[in-house]
Amino acid sequence: MLQQQAYRLFYSEIENWQLAKDKYSDLKASVSKRLEFGDFGIDVVCNPARIRSTMAEVQRKLEKMRHLPNNSQAAAAVDSSNDSCFLCSDRRPKEQKSIVVGDFEVLVNPYPIFPIHFTIVYKKHIPQQILPYFDEYLYFARNLTNFAVFFNGANCGASAPFHLHFQAAEKRYFNVVGDYSTLPQQYFEVVERDDTLTLTSIRNYLRKVFVISTSDPLRAKAVLERHFMQYIDDNMINIICCYEDGQYRIFVFPRQTFRPSQFFDDNPNKRLAISPASVEMSGCFVTIFREHFDRLDANEIVDIYSQIS
Ligand SMILES: [Zn+2]
Repeated sequence: MLQQQAYRLFYSEIENWQLAKDKYSDLKASVSKRLEFGDFGIDVVCNPARIRSTMAEVQRKLEKMRHLPNNSQAAAAVDSSNDSCFLCSDRRPKEQKSIVVGDFEVLVNPYPIFPIHFTIVYKKHIPQQILPYFDEYLYFARNLTNFAVFFNGANCGASAPFHLHFQAAEKRYFNVVGDYSTLPQQYFEVVERDDTLTLTSIRNYLRKVFVISTSDPLRAKAVLERHFMQYIDDNMINIICCYEDGQYRIFVFPRQTFRPSQFFDDNPNKRLAISPASVEMSGCFVTIFREHFDRLDANEIVDIYSQIS
């Protein structure tokens, strides 16, 4: 039901809202490559649809961010040219429609990474956080069954760290979701298991990831709190959830740092404008610059994951 409504909203928005129409059309001009690491792969995408302003403006903001604290809150402060919050209902483009679901609204993201990309926004302007809204987060995963619903901590990738939101995109685009089903058994280590829940880590996977698999939302939340509270408190966590085979699959990425040293490199020929969040942790690196896309190779990916994860 919700999923059908969401698809309808998407097709109506890209028909009737010029910005969405243009950006989803730009997305088709993305180029991508896949780097293989034995049993799994990492995708790299050069995505012009992510550009919110002119290239000169983007370059100026990135230059500023190189000298700021390494977290999303500092980045967001630079990125918003005035005090506006692009998720608050009274500041959104007037053409933008939404589906109201309890205290949240589902919106089409006009700066997409994926061919269908939603932002799920809390109605009030309150800071990004997960635990008090974890039930709602799981609700969206359970009712958008073709989708993965993801959460970026306020210090590691949330583009609006001051306004609570989740995002959703079709789960087939998340490598980690497929890898969980296809990787050989030796990649998995059971951390905790009982009748209703399994907490597993995936080893030798370049980045740290834990998977909570359960049909019980309360148990899921308890395990998340027990094992990852420090990362939640520090807002240094990315979470991706999808609902499969009657179970929530919750992929948890504890983070060490937001951006890798390459982002801050003084040498423009070594610099990489990437800001890893859930999408990168899932196995897809996104950049807006073609030369950065070309330079991102397997060695860079290994090095970046080792810094941020
Ligand atoms: Zn807001």
